[in-house]
Amino acid sequence: MGWRRCLQEVAGRALLSSARRGMEAADGARPRVLVVGAGLAGLGAAQRLSSSRSFPHLRLLESTGRAGGRVCSQRFGIVVEMGAHWIHGPSKENPVFQLASDYGLLDEEAMSEENQQIEVGGHPLLPAVFYSNAGRVLSPELVEGVRNLFSTLLDQTREFLHVPQVSVPSVGEYLRKEIAQQVKEWTDDDETKWLKLAILNTYFKLECCVSGTHSMDHVALGPFGEYAMLPGLDCTFPGGYGGLPDCMLTSLPKESVLFHKPVTAVRWGGSYREESQEGRTFPVQVECEDGERFLADHVIITVPLGFLKEHHETFIDPPLPPRKADAIRQLGFGTNNKIFLEFEQPFWPPDCQLIEVVWEDESPLVEAGTDLQASWFRKLIVFLVLQPYGHVLCGFIAGKESEYMETLSDAAVLTALTDVIRRLTGNPHLAPPKKVMRSQWHSAPYTRGSYSYVAVGSSGDDIDALAQPLPEDAADPRVMALLSHLGTMTRGRLPGRLLSPAWEVPWEVYT
Ligand SMILES: Cc1cc2nc3c(=O)[nH]c(=O)nc-3n(C[C@H](O)[C@H](O)[C@H](O)COP(=O)(O)OP(=O)(O)OC[C@H]3O[C@@H](n4cnc5c(N)ncnc54)[C@H](O)[C@@H]3O)c2cc1C
Repeated sequence: MGWRRCLQEVAGRALLSSARRGMEAADGARPRVLVVGAGLAGLGAAQRLSSSRSFPHLRLLESTGRAGGRVCSQRFGIVVEMGAHWIHGPSKENPVFQLASDYGLLDEEAMSEENQQIEVGGHPLLPAVFYSNAGRVLSPELVEGVRNLFSTLLDQTREFLHVPQVSVPSVGEYLRKEIAQQVKEWTDDDETKWLKLAILNTYFKLECCVSGTHSMDHVALGPFGEYAMLPGLDCTFPGGYGGLPDCMLTSLPKESVLFHKPVTAVRWGGSYREESQEGRTFPVQVECEDGERFLADHVIITVPLGFLKEHHETFIDPPLPPRKADAIRQLGFGTNNKIFLEFEQPFWPPDCQLIEVVWEDESPLVEAGTDLQASWFRKLIVFLVLQPYGHVLCGFIAGKESEYMETLSDAAVLTALTDVIRRLTGNPHLAPPKKVMRSQWHSAPYTRGSYSYVAVGSSGDDIDALAQPLPEDAADPRVMALLSHLGTMTRGRLPGRLLSPAWEVPWEVYT
């Protein structure tokens, strides 16, 4: 059963019957709902509930001092996005697009019907320059041919969705097997062959950033085709993505949101009594790090999968049923970080929006080195030129190398990247960037990574399993959604996974 249906039928029925009871009762007896986490999922759930008179007792508990979670705009001279940057597939079916449009946060181009209808089928192509570590700019024709080959092969990996048995378990292994076959038929000279393999390796690393994984060998082949792409050309927020959680927060009653309230335990199988509420018991008790406890009828949990991987055994009591615990273990949650560099003068051509990096001595058919200290920076494979400012680059780096980068100082990162850029441009005197700033999503204690993927050994059913309310098969669930957002919006099993399942409940019927 898909989670959308499951939630409408189970969660909807249950919470609404609770709401009905609430309508008949005095305000004080109306159902209490706690939401854990003030990212877009938690804010979305809280917003929907708070718009109903049936839920006057709503509390949102957030561990950090701000709303937004992995949506995090910061100033770096200009506004930059440490987390989400694009609305992928900005069109009517995308709830983030809907919200952003309603709040007037998007520009005219993004709002245009024309933009919403464009079928890109992936990431849009931007005008790019391809530098190699040998200090040369690669021919766009050569790169284009290799890119087409890679995207054809990647498209093929999506065709295994209903195949009962796949020949290899991962997307990475499939791609390498196919590439090894293709190479045999290449008639190029040796140098060109090596260069083509090196370019292919760049696309493997790029795909690691997109999937949020260390290696494409970790990404399951069978379910890869489950990812849905919505129409619409990716767009950004002119004033910063952070405007969206800010607007959502403003729409909530001020006293309902508590910051600096890390939840350490969700107890959902009991009967808890509050001294001031004589005679009334609550099935859920949530405890925070500072010892404060909150009682509730329902709790909606929207913490990231990375947090659950680390803490689910102690976070939830009674423990999760094996099916959910297995899903948490098996689904992948990897790291993709951003490194912002500000230059006095751009070293790239004026019309360039993307700088891609090719290491000529690498190939997807040769095992990569494992010395992170010596080579972490080789995983940083692409720089986005932040428009329209023109002198700020945003580099993307995924995997273990990205996690290693988090342990370095800003100065060490700046030195290493200055060296890389000097090698790429062949200019040993190129002025270093003026400033550096980077995200550190893996070290963030309440995130522990960037986003999820369907890892080898897991499937989309694990996502559904996590979305099922608890207790399973009960008419009156207490834990509404053990599901944070799992992945980027359009690469989701169903579009719109960004928002908590509570979003799906037709609350307005009862207002
Ligand atoms: C580098 C990066 C780039 C991305 N780029 C894009 C993009 O371009 N487009 C896109 O669509 N998506 C992108 N994403 C993914 C997107 O940001 C997330 O999927 C989305 O923001 C997740 O929302 P959420 O509410 O489910 O989780 P989060 O935003 O992680 O919110 C969870 C909240 O729970 C809080 N929390 C955790 N533990 C506790 C606890 N114990 N007690 C209380 N509170 C707790 C956290 O502090 C956090 O505020 C990107 C993510 C990253 C990291």
